[in-house]
Amino acid sequence: MDASADSPPVRRLADWEHDRLGALADRYGTPLYVLDLARVRENYRRFAAAFPDAHVMYAAKAHTGRAVLETLLSVGADIECAARGELQRAIDAGADPDTLQYTAVNPPAADLDYAADLGADHPGLTITAGARDTFDRLADRGYNGRVAIRVNPGIGTGHHEKVATGQDAKFGIPAEQVTDAAADVSDRFDLVGLHAHVGSGVLQDDLDDHCRAIERVAELTREVEREVGDLEFLDIGGGFGVPYREDEPPLELEIVGERVRAAAGDLGAQLALEPGRYVVADAELILTRVNTIKEAPSSTVVGVDASLATLLRPAMFEAYHPIRNVTAPERESEPVSVGGPCCTSADVFCTDRPIARPEREDLLAIGNAGAYGYELASQFHSQPRPAEVAVDGGETSVVRRRETLDDVTRVEQDF
Ligand SMILES: *Cc1c(COP(=O)(O)O)cnc(C)c1O
Repeated sequence: MDASADSPPVRRLADWEHDRLGALADRYGTPLYVLDLARVRENYRRFAAAFPDAHVMYAAKAHTGRAVLETLLSVGADIECAARGELQRAIDAGADPDTLQYTAVNPPAADLDYAADLGADHPGLTITAGARDTFDRLADRGYNGRVAIRVNPGIGTGHHEKVATGQDAKFGIPAEQVTDAAADVSDRFDLVGLHAHVGSGVLQDDLDDHCRAIERVAELTREVEREVGDLEFLDIGGGFGVPYREDEPPLELEIVGERVRAAAGDLGAQLALEPGRYVVADAELILTRVNTIKEAPSSTVVGVDASLATLLRPAMFEAYHPIRNVTAPERESEPVSVGGPCCTSADVFCTDRPIARPEREDLLAIGNAGAYGYELASQFHSQPRPAEVAVDGGETSVVRRRETLDDVTRVEQDF
């Protein structure tokens, strides 16, 4: 087994080399995304090792940066894409289109046009759809290649109602309609699999629910196979969680692997998985500088130069991200609220959380920013998006330059 399969199952903020972080912030400014490509490789390899006979694809939407895609392709990962732009970026990063899987969720016409064209030249492409109407739209474009049906098992799991997709009617064909749909779909396309991505942020305590959903989808797979013949794969999507809180334990992948395999039961079809978050979350952090400290009657407010434009997850999902004072981790902790320069009370990274007492100019690190971090960054308040620096062992490279105000206004035109 590859040595990095034995890498630590989680990386905490304290594990990053603080002197190096300080040097990066001095050199490239803040806010700054710092991405560890070695950790990306380790996470992928550890995950793949826990599912030895499964097909593991990386779900690109968690972090579609070329540095991440190229790194994962170089260690043999395949890629799952959920939009036209992701397909294009995966191909630009060197992915063989014949290995790509495209998951279409309410796909815009341009996305289907692109995927159907791609499939015409690359018969290995697999398109997953979760509505009969989407299959009709594919047929309208002359597509008759490989497809998978996304099913809605009616059971969802995960860390937040906005990401528990397994019972949201938006995703997948309802379980009771799947066999009928399969008969129709297999008449018009090469039906190769069933797909269900049922939740996100699944940790050890959510495993029972998650496995119930997988059992249900495996059952459906057997029903569909009785109707239309053998399928190539059952794809259970991603959703594998990482511990955002410092006291949360990481997933015990070996147990997860065993439980998932048991839930899938005796299947001829190969198991496929699409981890996104798990591969990148703890491989990246954000460095941000303290600019203002205010002693308010009820709390201490620490103003930093990162904001919800840099990292949206706390504002959008009430997500917890660990924060560490990298300049002075040894200082005594006191409860502080940390927020950015946006004029909304949603622009807070934590409220009354004990952190080594920050002072002006201190450097703070916001952890687990690799998944749905830069992807959700915006230019709100006319803030240019931050630079992203990749480290890999002793090497450092800027993989996204810092935007300028010119980048923010570039698409505006005279009127
Ligand atoms: C978002 C998504 C994933 C990845 O989910 P994670 O929670 O990041 O692992 C996988 N498959 C599909 C279809 C998705 O939409």
